[in-house]
Amino acid sequence: MSDALARPAAQQPVWPDPDALRTALGVLRTAPPLVTAAETDRLRGRLASVARGEALLLQSGDCAETFAGNTESHLNATLRCLLQMAGVLERHGGLPVVTVGRVAGQYAKPRSSPTDALGLPAYRGDIVNSFEPDPAARTADPQRMVLAHAQAALAMNHVRALGRSGEEVFSSHEAMLLDYEQALLRAGVDSGAGPLYSGSAHFLWIGERTRQLDGAHIGFAELLANPVGLKVGPGTTPGEVVEYARRLDPDRTPGRLTLISRMGRRHVREVLPALVEAVRAAGHPVVWSCDPMHGNTRESPSGYKTRLLADVLDEIKGFFEVHERLGTHPGGLHLEATGEDVTECLDGASAQDDAPLVARYDTLCDPRLNGQQAQVVAEFAADLVRRHHRRHHRQGRNHRAEAAHQWDDSSVRRSG
Ligand code: PEP
Ligand code: MN
Repeated sequence: MSDALARPAAQQPVWPDPDALRTALGVLRTAPPLVTAAETDRLRGRLASVARGEALLLQSGDCAETFAGNTESHLNATLRCLLQMAGVLERHGGLPVVTVGRVAGQYAKPRSSPTDALGLPAYRGDIVNSFEPDPAARTADPQRMVLAHAQAALAMNHVRALGRSGEEVFSSHEAMLLDYEQALLRAGVDSGAGPLYSGSAHFLWIGERTRQLDGAHIGFAELLANPVGLKVGPGTTPGEVVEYARRLDPDRTPGRLTLISRMGRRHVREVLPALVEAVRAAGHPVVWSCDPMHGNTRESPSGYKTRLLADVLDEIKGFFEVHERLGTHPGGLHLEATGEDVTECLDGASAQDDAPLVARYDTLCDPRLNGQQAQVVAEFAADLVRRHHRRHHRQGRNHRAEAAHQWDDSSVRRSG
């Protein structure tokens, strides 16, 4: 274990106080896990049905959860939005949906620069430092990891309570902060030997900025028994993606690996096909999911980080076109969305009129779809799912008829 984690780790904070770090990690190592191995195994099984083309994965929530935002009303908004989208996809798309929140632990953020516009250390998420633009508040504080665990436990309790009355919602976050993730590793049923489970969430993914093949994040993901995700951006090559699949899905286990394509609308049609083909040729039964958010981020004229709904829809359309052409399953969607009435993404196809953004721009990180925009995305995707499924179902029927016919022939031959 120490081997994998001794590799270079991108995007980690510098903790200035080693004693405080030791204390915090000691607490986390002995703390109760937030999820159970049985729940995690159940998610893996449900993702296997997505890999087989029999279900869809829907993953959604905040870009960055915050401690202050860990309220009943905000969690309800995240879950309501997720479950409403899932309802649309099930009813209009015609496939069961596996619901996974970016929730109960999505507290660590990778940053493009170590410092912000004011020259202060960058905000790395509430699990590391404070958003408040002040040098002391921006200092990495290990005690925040202990607080993050406690906040995530409160959130998970609420997620479970809501799930009990209907659909089970699984938890997920980016496996970014390796000190935290490592301290929350737990043995499975028979402690001792066997694979390790994350005690921090059911599903963890590795982000675009920390997926170095020789880095600690991929090494960490290799250790896990959990289903894992990997973000793949437009710079990914077919050779790389096969190497990721070999490393993260060595036993070719359906549901183990979800590849989350985040190409941007301009690249998805050109870059994704060769990746899908290479993974299929290598025989890995992965889930392909579409993140139409992170490749489509732009700065509006007045300086807001935003996304256009039209770009989001176009990337989803491109993702479905690719899978249509290759006969593979467009398995899922990965969104940043909230049921709250925020104004962070723009409804139209142009960023020129960005006045609406000022009304309620709440996010500390990336812009989220609001409830209405998420509904539009769900209806759009459901329509594509229904068409895709109808065509492939018809093809499937033809295959079955052909197979039955061959069987008839051979049985005739055998008996004759
Ligand atoms: C994210 O999901 O918030 C994120 C940072 O994504 P990516 O790694 O794809 O840029
Ligand atoms: Mn984000």
